[in-house]
Amino acid sequence: FKLPAIENEPNQHYEAGSSSRAGLLAALAQMRAAAPFEIPCIINGKEVKTGKKQSQLIPADHASSLCTYHEATPSDVDSAIKGALAAKVKWESMAWADRAAIFLKAADLVGGKYRYKIMAATMLGQGKNAWQAEIDAAAELVDFLRFSAKYTEELYAQQPPKNAPGVWNRSEYRALDGFVLAVSPFNFTAIGGNLVGAPAIVGNVVLWKPSPMAVYSNYILYQILEEAGLPAGVIQFIPGPAEAIVAQSFKHPLFAGLHFTGSTAVFKKLWKDIASNIEIYKSYPRIVGETGGKNFHLVHKSADVKSSVLQAIRGAFEYQGQKCSALSRLYVPQSLWEGKGGFKEQLIDQVKLITLGQPEEFEHFMGPVIARHSYDKITSYIKKAKAAGGEVIVGGQADDSKGFFVHPTVIETKDPKSVTMVEEIFGPVITAYAYPDDKFEETIELVKETTDYALTGAVFAQDREAVAYMADKLRNAAGNFYINDKCTGAVVGQQPFGGSRGSGTNDKAGSINLLYRFVNARSIKETF
Ligand code: GLU
Repeated sequence: FKLPAIENEPNQHYEAGSSSRAGLLAALAQMRAAAPFEIPCIINGKEVKTGKKQSQLIPADHASSLCTYHEATPSDVDSAIKGALAAKVKWESMAWADRAAIFLKAADLVGGKYRYKIMAATMLGQGKNAWQAEIDAAAELVDFLRFSAKYTEELYAQQPPKNAPGVWNRSEYRALDGFVLAVSPFNFTAIGGNLVGAPAIVGNVVLWKPSPMAVYSNYILYQILEEAGLPAGVIQFIPGPAEAIVAQSFKHPLFAGLHFTGSTAVFKKLWKDIASNIEIYKSYPRIVGETGGKNFHLVHKSADVKSSVLQAIRGAFEYQGQKCSALSRLYVPQSLWEGKGGFKEQLIDQVKLITLGQPEEFEHFMGPVIARHSYDKITSYIKKAKAAGGEVIVGGQADDSKGFFVHPTVIETKDPKSVTMVEEIFGPVITAYAYPDDKFEETIELVKETTDYALTGAVFAQDREAVAYMADKLRNAAGNFYINDKCTGAVVGQQPFGGSRGSGTNDKAGSINLLYRFVNARSIKETF
């Protein structure tokens, strides 16, 4: 049998007066009125209320809580592991189409009946505006669920090309020998879906530790998977403190894989912890991670200024710069940067038009940053940049009286290796360096060597030779490389996503490569 045709989920738009806007507004109003919700752990399909409660706040209105969730304790983690391993027996031997059907049905539920609910949870809890929630919790999440079914079909079809006379060679792709731990971030609800979905669809059982700042949307996704037919225990939903949950999982001999999206520092620490436990494991755990970035736009003198300004603004400030892929280093030739109507002036004029507000107010391009600690970190970087001689040419204001609002900020620096050119900020701040036109080659070197990250990057040029030259020289500088487009917004099934160096293991979310990491292949030779 063959899967039905898999297409990208079409985006809904939320124009004033549209039924989609009315639907989303109703979901938001209902959710605000009913919050805070009480969220349990889900272990073996059962609600577990541990009594150790924490709150997920609404970052645009931090006096309000979206949910109170129960944290898993180490003994809950133990029962989750035990239950998952028991569930694995049936799950991994199910016909793959039966597993795939669950994910396809979940995709339909996300894109249909629950679209506005999961978007509303993402907007309130993670501070997204309607469009950012649409491209994450609706479209991308649906795409991850559907395309993982497609990639599973393709994976299982990979067979050795040759058979000797009287021999039949086969390849089989089994689940890993143990369980997978998925640690998901706050910034994309869809990423949580992929971190658990990709290992699970190929027969693995998964412990899911969602980000404390995304518990509610992630819980809704868990419930949708359950409604779609996911058997109890296959995915164990265990919010709580990373250290305890991760440490408990890593102690188990059947820990078989980590699927992680988050910071570079945390990923390195987890890698070391796994390494130090290596003697206890039955197999070498698979370690798959997507981590930080310090992403660039490099503008060539032949670029179209107006469109490169707009792409810079979208790349840097959509979702307040809290995408791992967000633009944070901007290189523009002096001849385009300076002067009346130049890049700098257009950038300042456009940034000044940006407004910030509550998720329900559809007119705003931006919302809050996720939490107090991010607000403090971002504002401290703006101070550091100034102390290092950078000039804030637009933005720089911040207001945390109601929500964690940081205005879109552009720092101009004369020192291309200054602190905000090097370190990840994860907020709405770009540092721009106007490079001398005759130093193009040196600037390419700077783009390449200023940071240890290699997640996303973009080049802007109309001169074809310059495009080819930059693409060649910047080969290892970005796992997702854009030509005349912003460095964010990879689409599942179109641009598999991930970076190398300090940015991750580059196993590409939204691709067949990723599924290979979560299977144990068996080569079978049968002679007749
Ligand atoms: N895939 C997203 C993009 O291309 C970014 C994912 C992330 O922030 O980890 O913008």
